[in-house]
Amino acid sequence: MQSLIMKSSKDAVQSAAKEFLQFVNRGVSPYHVVEECKSRLLKAGFIELKEAECWDIKPASKYFVTRNYSSIIAFAVGGKFLPGNGFSMIGAHTDSPCLRVKPRSKKTRLGCLQVGVECYGGGIWNTWFDRDLTIAGRVMVKSGDKLTQRLIHVPRPLLRIPHLAIHLQRDINDSFGPNKENHLVPILASAVQEELETGCASSGDACNATTTVEKHHPALVKVLCSELGVQPEALLDFELCLADTQLGVLGGVYEEFIYSPRLDNLHSCYCSLQALIDSGASLAGDTNIRMVTLYDNEEVGSESAQGAQSNLTELILSRLSSTSSNLTAFQQAAPVSFMISADMAHAAHPNYQEKHDENHRPAFHKGPVIKFNSNQRYATTAVTAAIVREIAGRVNVPLQDVMVRNDSPCGTTIGPILASRLGIPVVDIGAPQLSMHSIREMCCTSGVLQTITLFKGFFELFPTVRSMVTVD
Ligand code: ZN
Repeated sequence: MQSLIMKSSKDAVQSAAKEFLQFVNRGVSPYHVVEECKSRLLKAGFIELKEAECWDIKPASKYFVTRNYSSIIAFAVGGKFLPGNGFSMIGAHTDSPCLRVKPRSKKTRLGCLQVGVECYGGGIWNTWFDRDLTIAGRVMVKSGDKLTQRLIHVPRPLLRIPHLAIHLQRDINDSFGPNKENHLVPILASAVQEELETGCASSGDACNATTTVEKHHPALVKVLCSELGVQPEALLDFELCLADTQLGVLGGVYEEFIYSPRLDNLHSCYCSLQALIDSGASLAGDTNIRMVTLYDNEEVGSESAQGAQSNLTELILSRLSSTSSNLTAFQQAAPVSFMISADMAHAAHPNYQEKHDENHRPAFHKGPVIKFNSNQRYATTAVTAAIVREIAGRVNVPLQDVMVRNDSPCGTTIGPILASRLGIPVVDIGAPQLSMHSIREMCCTSGVLQTITLFKGFFELFPTVRSMVTVD
């Protein structure tokens, strides 16, 4: 552990953390995450494939495929790969809890033009109050005879959900849980200002709206159109997330922390992608296919065409294994494959010590955390944990263990879903963080480099370490 946080390596730790900040600041919606991954992969020599086309996969080559433009699977074929050999996989998720603009968003109350939003996932919604919010996501646009997707991210604060003053609710500091329908409606403008700007103020709601333009306040439609350079009639449907305009930054007196939105789970997306790219030099000698699978919709249960529960992974693995001469290549590959289910872990909170079992208290800077839960909220087994420990030892990355208290609720991940769907051994691992599912979370800078180092070691060493295992 020492070596990764000693002064001599602080530069490497900080520069990995800063590069991650670039990634997380661009990944404002799942679509933007896929866009950012795609551009990094193309730059690293990966070739884009389409599910709907025939593939001609070659050894020692690198590819990626997207589904719904919100999930992405990237893979690098080992130079010595043969059908039936294993897959060295790391999976994570591209989505985070957020508020999303409703399909009919126009609301007007007390002279305020407001935007109706839907809660996506299990956010700590009171953290969305008094933040300077904007919109980010995708819009379907009709252009000529085509329906195309356009990404949008307005880089300025457009929306705000104000708190009610303490004078009007003296008990707010005792407990604050907003009503998710009534209290989480952001303000876009005042009717007074809009009248001043345009000569007439939008009013009412969207219950009788028939066109896209009528379903939202004209000011919102105008922002979308000017960002996209299209006429209002071209707007069809959209998926727009609200996002904090405050960028992720380094923090703490020693700049050892990262304060940022979406650490869960863009930290894992970034580290797995970076490890896949960084391990390119050793690809020629690999007998496996290295793969990173980043799924949308984990925060809402993974049940979608592009989620971890979908057929996406299985179709791709069987496609890569398939051969006319060996009809059981995929079945042979599954047991010698491995997946790291990478998702953030809870660091022990100094102000809530009693929430953590005294023997399982992950700390900052002490390495990625292996998550255990015999009730299968996490997929780790003794075998999968042992494999990761062997790899971590070889690349000098410390590991921590976590298990929740018996009287505590437990999160879950894509790990158990993929373990059961694919029959592939899985370990659940993540970097420690605080404030999970807040609009602004917190982790430590060393977690980025430690996680990338571990994941790169996994891609390079897994086939060797797997060959040591004698359990079937
Ligand atoms: Zn997560």
